[in-house]
Amino acid sequence: MEFAFSAEENQFRDKVRTWLAENKPSEARPHDGVPMREFDLAWQQRKYESGWAGINWPKEYGGQGLSLVEQMIWHEECARARAPGVGCLSIALNHAGPTIILTGTEEQKATYLPSILRGELVWCQGFSEPGAGSDLAGLRLKATIDGNHLVLNGQKIWTSHAHLATYQETLVRTGPTTPKHKGITWLIVDMRTPGIRIRPIRTMANNYHFCEVFYDNVRVPLSNVVGEVDNGWRVAMSTLSFERGSLTVGRAADLRYVVEKLIDMAHERSGPDGRKAAIDDDDIGVRLAILRAEIAALQAMNYETMSKDRQGQAPGAEASMDFLYCSELLQRARLLALDILGADALELSGETGNWTISYLDDRHYLIAGGSAEIRRNIIAERILGLPRSS
Ligand SMILES: Cc1cc2nc3c(=O)[nH]c(=O)nc-3n(C[C@H](O)[C@H](O)[C@H](O)COP(=O)(O)OP(=O)(O)OC[C@H]3O[C@@H](n4cnc5c(N)ncnc54)[C@H](O)[C@@H]3O)c2cc1C
Repeated sequence: MEFAFSAEENQFRDKVRTWLAENKPSEARPHDGVPMREFDLAWQQRKYESGWAGINWPKEYGGQGLSLVEQMIWHEECARARAPGVGCLSIALNHAGPTIILTGTEEQKATYLPSILRGELVWCQGFSEPGAGSDLAGLRLKATIDGNHLVLNGQKIWTSHAHLATYQETLVRTGPTTPKHKGITWLIVDMRTPGIRIRPIRTMANNYHFCEVFYDNVRVPLSNVVGEVDNGWRVAMSTLSFERGSLTVGRAADLRYVVEKLIDMAHERSGPDGRKAAIDDDDIGVRLAILRAEIAALQAMNYETMSKDRQGQAPGAEASMDFLYCSELLQRARLLALDILGADALELSGETGNWTISYLDDRHYLIAGGSAEIRRNIIAERILGLPRSS
């Protein structure tokens, strides 16, 4: 790998740093519900008005037409400035928008893309169902053609922010008798359509992050199909691939901040023996040192991914490795925070809220968007060349 930032990229970093210092929200991001949505929308609107929305979206669709490297610099600087990420606009900006750019009709592009970039509304993702998570192609939400509509009957589950969303990117079963990867259709569903019922689920972190969604004779115009009917699996794979540049890089930069904060806390607080500082405790000191070294390794992995992108090579299965490593590292950091803080972790707040809640909340990175076991399978088969697990 050869990776160095160019003079233009360093200038871009300076501009981002200056703008964030003057414009990042001064108030804390609410943890849940409508206040959280309004905060995320307002932050996106501010970025849009100043020309910072859609860094790697093509210029013709209102973006800046820059590369994943600039996107990564943006994430690094946000973490450095403690500026918020895109929050509940992630599906709109990182999934639905890029999918519509790649596969949508001109009418779909004109209808949906401007409002996404301007931060006017929230999208959610209706992919998982009871019995179709890791085995996504097993999804069953039935969609039958009736005139110029599809009629939906069935259920989705774990739909993040469904109760706050205006649109859903939805995978439906249009071909019930064809092989399971065929007969799937990628559809834009307006969440205000009659027949949709949303039931929020409370998580162990005590928020309503995700929901069950029920569809009872929900009529969706055929013009909302992205790609063709029965060809949604291919579209869905492109949707998921857009995550590659956005997720791990931002979280890795956040993680570096968390660990530096832990090191500060370990200097200030007494360790398990109640006498010397936590940093001087052998166990805590060693764990902190390993974490800091691992974050440097994660950053190198991210830069390698970026360097491949720069050479026009898709990172492919390596993205799963970065994601899994980052998620497990985050768990170790969160656990170490609890060990340093002891019972105070129940009361004290860190960079994203209460330390105990953050520990519970971040466990979802080992499940959402592909569990740790599934990512290990991908690494084993596609990187290490091991035989497929049965
Ligand atoms: C916080 C959060 C937010 C989410 N948001 C969304 C969303 O917005 N939209 C959406 O569509 N989905 C969402 N999901 C769902 C998520 O994508 C699924 O939970 C995930 O894909 C796992 O599917 P499952 O829950 O059905 O578990 P299952 O697939 O039933 O898996 C259960 C267990 O078996 C293991 N397992 C399954 N198959 C294998 C195998 N072949 N080899 C080894 N182990 C295996 C899994 O690793 C897991 O430990 C979200 C999940 C979480 C936790």
